[in-house]
Amino acid sequence: MIISRTVQDVRSLSSVAKASGRKVALVPTMGYLHEGHASLIRRAREEAGFVIVSIFVNPTQFGPNEDLDRYPRDFERDRETCIRSGADAIFAPSVEEMYPAGFSTFIEVEGGMTRFLCGARRPGHFRGVATIVGKLFIAAQPDVSVFGQKDAQQAAVVMKMTREMGLPVRIVVSPIVRESDGLAMSSRNSYLTPEERLAAPLLKRSLDDAAELFHKGERTTEKLTEAVLRRLAGSPLIKPDYVEIVDNETFEPAARITERPVCLAVAAYLGKTRLIDNLVLGVEK
Ligand code: AMP
Repeated sequence: MIISRTVQDVRSLSSVAKASGRKVALVPTMGYLHEGHASLIRRAREEAGFVIVSIFVNPTQFGPNEDLDRYPRDFERDRETCIRSGADAIFAPSVEEMYPAGFSTFIEVEGGMTRFLCGARRPGHFRGVATIVGKLFIAAQPDVSVFGQKDAQQAAVVMKMTREMGLPVRIVVSPIVRESDGLAMSSRNSYLTPEERLAAPLLKRSLDDAAELFHKGERTTEKLTEAVLRRLAGSPLIKPDYVEIVDNETFEPAARITERPVCLAVAAYLGKTRLIDNLVLGVEK
């Protein structure tokens, strides 16, 4: 496993791989890897002959009262997961490497897409995401980059940013990987107390309740979000942050579901831990 710590180094790794005729894939992560990340790496392996996993806890995407300082880290375990999943290299730069002193250049996707869901609840979050992903793309020069459906709005923001900045990177979105009880895998699940962990699968069950209503013909977003909230109310440990239905491409709120697929997204606090999950509802033609 090649470990690269600098932009210059990862760029030369990428150009050497390309010179040998291989496509380069990048899987951006914040580390503390789990099976969700591993599935992205395996997908990247199918797409390209040289797979780079970036591990960087990006300070600019955390708000002042968020969990930057306590975000979990375990580089040795991550390295093993990368090897096991078929990665060729890890790019793990320092904060100073990505944000040298005096850094003041940002990429911001403005308007619609970033005004709702996590964009509304975490001011500045997607500015940090767009900036770091743009910087990672410029550093590692991938042909393709794999993101998880788990962070659906993030994937949409990255696709828009990549297209509008004219970066020659194909974005692939890979399905959500879940624990056997339905809880979407997340590095943040490690924060949960045993009681919170028992309650956490209600997030997925609440989405399933709405999906069931949808498949019975319900098309008003109000009724569907009500079903989600009803299920979440089943545990006093869960405090919903948002439940919203947005267009699956623009991420702007949808009042009624017509012919375009929508994303039903939920965020909720369990104690101090904020978890997100989502489900795409498509209208069959
Ligand atoms: P993170 O390390 O949480 O920033 O996530 C890095 C990438 O892994 C993002 O593209 C996430 O959407 C993706 N990811 C995180 N959890 C999952 C999961 N349970 N299933 C699929 N992809 C995931």
